[in-house]
Amino acid sequence: MTRVERVISVEEVRGALSRPRLEGRTIGFVPTMGALHEGHLALVRASQAQTDLTVVSIFVNPTQFGPNEDFDAYPRDLDADSAMLAAEGVDVLFMPTVPVMYPPGAETRVEPGSIASRWCGEARPGHFSGVATVVVKLLDIVAPSVAFFGEKDYQQLKVIERVARDLDIPTRITGVPIVRENDGVAMSSRNRYLREDDRRAARVLYRALSACAEAAAAGQTDARALDEAMRRAIEAEAGVELEYAAVVDAATLEPVETVERPCRALVAARVGPARLIDNVAVLPPAKRP
Ligand code: AMP
Repeated sequence: MTRVERVISVEEVRGALSRPRLEGRTIGFVPTMGALHEGHLALVRASQAQTDLTVVSIFVNPTQFGPNEDFDAYPRDLDADSAMLAAEGVDVLFMPTVPVMYPPGAETRVEPGSIASRWCGEARPGHFSGVATVVVKLLDIVAPSVAFFGEKDYQQLKVIERVARDLDIPTRITGVPIVRENDGVAMSSRNRYLREDDRRAARVLYRALSACAEAAAAGQTDARALDEAMRRAIEAEAGVELEYAAVVDAATLEPVETVERPCRALVAARVGPARLIDNVAVLPPAKRP
């Protein structure tokens, strides 16, 4: 097994990448918070397929967690993560400490606009500002040609696309489809929080989302009716507390009245000790010739 080059400081990452950059090799970048699973590895593989050299970062970013959220409890397993990345043939692992990313006195924040205001933005005030701030810093440090983000965090992907466009960041932002367990549950580091009964209950999210996409494809284009059906299904599941379920415009994330262009169904719910999110594409019924 090859070893990943592990680096901690900004100077070390820039140093590790200066030669490949001079040689004209393209750099792919996968930012993560660690506790890696197959979902993260799908991003790594997409990067390896599209670029010459892959950098992964692992940083549990304090500024994207609210005061009563799970920053301290968030799973951390650097040795297991590092072994997985070595097995994938990742070139560089950037694992900065909090003071590397936020030296004493650092005050600047990136504030994304309206795309960050609804859904998870409403439920988690300051979350997307923390995400945008750390991602802009990471993109500046690594300066990759392409950066890979999972559709699992669909609103995050849309926020990052908008921030990159608004701030003229030259990196291409690429979305990667959601990787699911066999029973449909979206892979997530937070699934580690679930007990067996929670884990079983969590299936309702993808079940409700799939039913929504199928109903739309079969001709139900009334978005409120689709929302309502998802809400009913999720609220009927014991141990699951729905936060939101909505069919939205796939690009702007604004609610829609009718599914007549590409949409996305988004859900967030508490399942036992975990807050889980998931989403699927919702397309209008295929037009008959
Ligand atoms: P995280 O470590 O949870 O911050 O996730 C790091 C990156 O991996 C983000 O771009 C996530 O959207 C992506 N990701 C996490 N879980 C999945 C999954 N099940 N499928 C695809 N991408 C994922």
